[in-house]
Amino acid sequence: MASGIDISSAMKVYGDGANAVHAFGPSTLSIEPGEFVSLVGPSGCGKSTLMLMIAGLLDCSSGSISVEGIPVKGPQTRIGIMFQDNTLVPWRTVTGNIELQLELRGLPVSALRGKIDQLIRSVGLDEFAGRYPYELSGGMQQRAAFCQTLVHGPGILLLDEPLGKLDAMTRENIRRDLQKLWLAERPTVVFVTHSIEEAVQLSTKVCVVTPRPGRIERVIDIDLPWPRDLDVKRSARFAAYARQIEEIFHDYGVL
Ligand code: ADP
Repeated sequence: MASGIDISSAMKVYGDGANAVHAFGPSTLSIEPGEFVSLVGPSGCGKSTLMLMIAGLLDCSSGSISVEGIPVKGPQTRIGIMFQDNTLVPWRTVTGNIELQLELRGLPVSALRGKIDQLIRSVGLDEFAGRYPYELSGGMQQRAAFCQTLVHGPGILLLDEPLGKLDAMTRENIRRDLQKLWLAERPTVVFVTHSIEEAVQLSTKVCVVTPRPGRIERVIDIDLPWPRDLDVKRSARFAAYARQIEEIFHDYGVL
């Protein structure tokens, strides 16, 4: 079952006094169940800070965030989170790393064996299930990390630049997988990216975040057909959305 997220005047200041860093907000945003929302903005504008606050790994300095109508007060174990640097541990295989996410949540590994195998197959890692992270390419490691994020069946995915370190071709392939998964299961997704094109391709809504202190000043509904394949990406409407977002950043002096 997918879930919604309500961000209500959420703000974060790190530290205090002369060392205070106003990192994010205040901003308000309502994310409906099953939406795919991208946050696009320059480095250091507080996108990761907002993700950590949604995940309950960081408190808001003021304002509040609710997930499924319940105020976030601590780490949200129901959410699936994925970062740019994957969280694979080096001493476990691909399968072992995926199992670890279940063990940490006290979920039964043996009962979910079929799901683990199916996830590994769905990202094309069947032949590498018994390999260790150092035996995998960067793209394969991110695919394994993606399985870790999904294995406990989260209704909400927080994806913080998960494709940031990948080469263009691998990135395009994983984008396609991510879109397929979202279309099939409709989780609620919050996705951080630097890539305007990636945001337009994947999202129902793109949130444009201003330079620090980051504020969500523009929310653009992306009305394009699914799946957003190469034909859609080459369309005039796709280019118009990308240009619209580029122009906003140009006005901020970022581009
Ligand atoms: P983004 O994800 O958009 O690159 P971040 O949320 O990582 O931005 O950071 C926003 C701002 O907050 C940056 O200026 C960063 O240096 C600062 N910041 C992030 N984490 C901390 C921290 N733990 N202590 C102090 N400042 C921080």
